[in-house]
Amino acid sequence: MSITTVGIVGAGQMGNGIAHVFALAGYDVVMSDISQDALDKAVALIDRNLERQVSRGKISAETKAAALGRIRTTLSLVDVAQTDLVIEAATERETVKQAIFEDLQPHLKPHTILTSNTSSISITRLASRTDRPERFMGFHFMNPVPVMQLVELIRGIATDEPTYKALHEVVEKIGKTAASAEDFPAFIVNRILMPMINEAVYTLYEGVGNVRSIDQSLKLGANHPMGPLELADFIGLDTCLAIMNVLHEGLGDTKYRPCPLLSKYVEAGWLGRKTQRGFYDYREDPPVPTR
Ligand code: NAD
Repeated sequence: MSITTVGIVGAGQMGNGIAHVFALAGYDVVMSDISQDALDKAVALIDRNLERQVSRGKISAETKAAALGRIRTTLSLVDVAQTDLVIEAATERETVKQAIFEDLQPHLKPHTILTSNTSSISITRLASRTDRPERFMGFHFMNPVPVMQLVELIRGIATDEPTYKALHEVVEKIGKTAASAEDFPAFIVNRILMPMINEAVYTLYEGVGNVRSIDQSLKLGANHPMGPLELADFIGLDTCLAIMNVLHEGLGDTKYRPCPLLSKYVEAGWLGRKTQRGFYDYREDPPVPTR
């Protein structure tokens, strides 16, 4: 199973990072979104991030130009479907993802492998709605993709061995490390990370600490490189809430109930860095805690 072309659906925080690493590794990339603005911003960001790698001596200017030249953008899913490997990295909502796979379906090549970068949604359920559950997998990158070493590989119940092996090889080719996870809500990383972030929000909600003291405590007291609230802003509070809802509904345990304060931030549209405001206000430099 030879993979040379990669289609990415969704050009947000994750989609642009995924396009960056695949183009750098020599794959031809087609990146799509429903918003031309998102596509333009993604390409500008990839350009800036590659330039940073050039200025640090990690890649040459020629390598950067070649990588950028391998990325094509489109508003049409048809172009994405014609690739060897599709990576869906759109908004963390099951109906959105299901509609994308339905729209892709009639245009897919017979051998195309379908994957989702979902942080929490059932791979088995997403796969069951396609014509190829045996060639469907969870392909979970970490944020920021060009920096983070891990990729979680999640087999759905029907995923076959050649598909798993093909994706394992892809992970090696892009210079990252794979960890295998079974298909249960939020897999490994977020099953452990999100309840910690949610607990940090409860700690804030109950007034045990303020934003600064909570983040400082985990940074200096547990040697975490980022505080949990700073990390939540980085991930996106809508994504954090969506993952907590999947854990709560999927595992049926009240210990996973999302903190009402997290819901309130999302209702306000304070989604973290991507909207300039979350637990910190990023319109100020340095960012100012909002509680
Ligand atoms: P984001 O909000 O930054 O980007 C989502 C993008 O999807 C937007 O540009 C939006 O326009 C686009 N989109 C929405 N509907 C679409 C459609 N029908 N077709 C094409 N594009 C569409 O979100 P993100 O943080 O990049 O997250 C994307 C996925 O990656 C989610 O499934 C999320 O759970 C997962 N993920 C996120 C992180 C993280 O830290 N943010 C980490 C790992 C995985």
